[in-house]
Amino acid sequence: PAHAEPKDTYVIATDTTYAPFEFTDSSGEYVGIDIDLMTAIAEDQGFEVEFQPLGFDAAVQAVSSGQADGIIAGMSITDERQEVFDFSEPYFTGGIQLGVLESSDVQSYEDLAGQKVAVKTGTQGQTFAQDHAEEYGFEISSYQETTDMVEAVKSGQAVGYFEDYPVLAYGIQQGSGFRLVGEPELGGDYGMAVKKGQNPELIQMFDEGLANLKESGEYDEILDRYIGDAT
Ligand code: GLN
Repeated sequence: PAHAEPKDTYVIATDTTYAPFEFTDSSGEYVGIDIDLMTAIAEDQGFEVEFQPLGFDAAVQAVSSGQADGIIAGMSITDERQEVFDFSEPYFTGGIQLGVLESSDVQSYEDLAGQKVAVKTGTQGQTFAQDHAEEYGFEISSYQETTDMVEAVKSGQAVGYFEDYPVLAYGIQQGSGFRLVGEPELGGDYGMAVKKGQNPELIQMFDEGLANLKESGEYDEILDRYIGDAT
């Protein structure tokens, strides 16, 4: 079919600051596991990528509305999303955890009663918080960016934030001053996604490229570049 003819360039929406998956490094370069992986796969499969760092929620919407061809943004493959997106094979495993400041009194979800927690709009962390707010008696404040959640906690507007543990763990390793509470929840393999039924060849090329990168060792090299110390 004509629509499956590969394009020269694919517009890929992504998050803004979501280290180690996408972020601006000290030399001003936009890097990360998602960025390097997508770039390497594009090279392997012979297409170009134009990244659009829009923020998670905006990236999801850009793909839904056809303004971007695909999204790679530490995006978890969920049943709900599979109704509107087609996903690649999983390339990483996430899961939600609570991050609090090292100095915080919070040791478990029970300690959240009557407190505010920060979440990022449209994420699994938000879903997890919504599903458990009543049970543990906490309130939810939603933000657009991970950096906004971090600031909210640092400034005392929230006692902690629900975020993917690889992101929390990377921050802690970089000296964020946070610590983890509880165990990772919701599992959540990450996949690259396209709008359901659109750009099927992009998913196919991603899966083929990912398999090639795993075979050649480049996949491990990319992970090591960012989380070598943590694994
Ligand atoms: N993995 C989470 C989700 O898919 C968070 C993604 C993100 O914030 N970039 O909802």
